[in-house]
Amino acid sequence: MDNLIKVDHLSTYFYSDEGAVKAVDDVNFRVKAGEIVCIVGESGCGKSVTAMSIMGLVEEPGGKVVSGKIEFDGEDLLQLDKNTLRSIRGNEIAMIFQEPMSSLNPVMKIGEQIMEPLLIHLKMSKKEARTRAIELIKQVGISRPEEIADSYPHELSGGMLQRIMIAISISCKPKLLIADEPTTALDVTIQAQILDLLREFKETSNMSIMLITHDLGVVAEMADYVIVMYSGKIVEEGEVVELFERPKHPYTRGLLKSKPIINQRQEELYSIPGQVPNPLELQESCYFHDRCEHCMAICQTKQPQLQEVGNQQKVACWLYEEAVTHA
Ligand code: SF4
Ligand code: MG
Repeated sequence: MDNLIKVDHLSTYFYSDEGAVKAVDDVNFRVKAGEIVCIVGESGCGKSVTAMSIMGLVEEPGGKVVSGKIEFDGEDLLQLDKNTLRSIRGNEIAMIFQEPMSSLNPVMKIGEQIMEPLLIHLKMSKKEARTRAIELIKQVGISRPEEIADSYPHELSGGMLQRIMIAISISCKPKLLIADEPTTALDVTIQAQILDLLREFKETSNMSIMLITHDLGVVAEMADYVIVMYSGKIVEEGEVVELFERPKHPYTRGLLKSKPIINQRQEELYSIPGQVPNPLELQESCYFHDRCEHCMAICQTKQPQLQEVGNQQKVACWLYEEAVTHA
């Protein structure tokens, strides 16, 4: 399979009076055509900022992509001028967010909002765009599409609005859909329906999906390939089955242990002791060392690099140094 997007040495920093936060720190990954890659980690680990960097949504002076390359379909997105990037965004790469309300215009009818990218990117006539918008509303499983097209966002439920966001995002048949916690705000039943819908579009259109989540249930359900981030860095990645069956990094193991099990009471859940380090106080070390039960002397003074440990699985942890040097 070909790489659709190839991210190399991406670093994105945010600046405040107290200093620079390395929100994304030298991150490398690929998404192949037709694949679902899940980026997982706790909040603040850099997963959303990675998505924003790809979309060109990190803006100075607050934040900046300080280095790296984001090759999409053979072109470096970071080198493109604003207009070219705008024409790719929403057309070839689309994004949906956790809160559909924040991306929709409250005073514009649903139908008009679905028509907008069709008019801009696909240069459809108003009539064509209206017909297509109605089709799209049907396609995301909403009945009475004409009526919905003529309503305003506040008249619809959260689950319906997320379906509308999906309709907008797939309207121009993007090659890549970036979905940032798309189901986090929804109840479990609606969540499952939205995920089914995304998978269905992926299968029928060969679209790739980069799915950002903190929910391992969603990962297990959706991912082909998983990337685990911690404090701005990738700490482990691999094929979903391999990663769930044989997690290598102590952080991934902790995440998998803390995954809620149906019918198990809340008190019995494992949660990783300690907290994510203050991003302003990171020092040369494994950033997970304060929380790791396997921490060794070297972990406190030297940062482990991401290394292949077989079966396409990669891990950044000193425990595997031996496996690495003797592989
Ligand atoms: Fe734990 Fe050391 Fe591995 Fe970090 S490098 S996860 S501290 S064993
Ligand atoms: Mg986020």
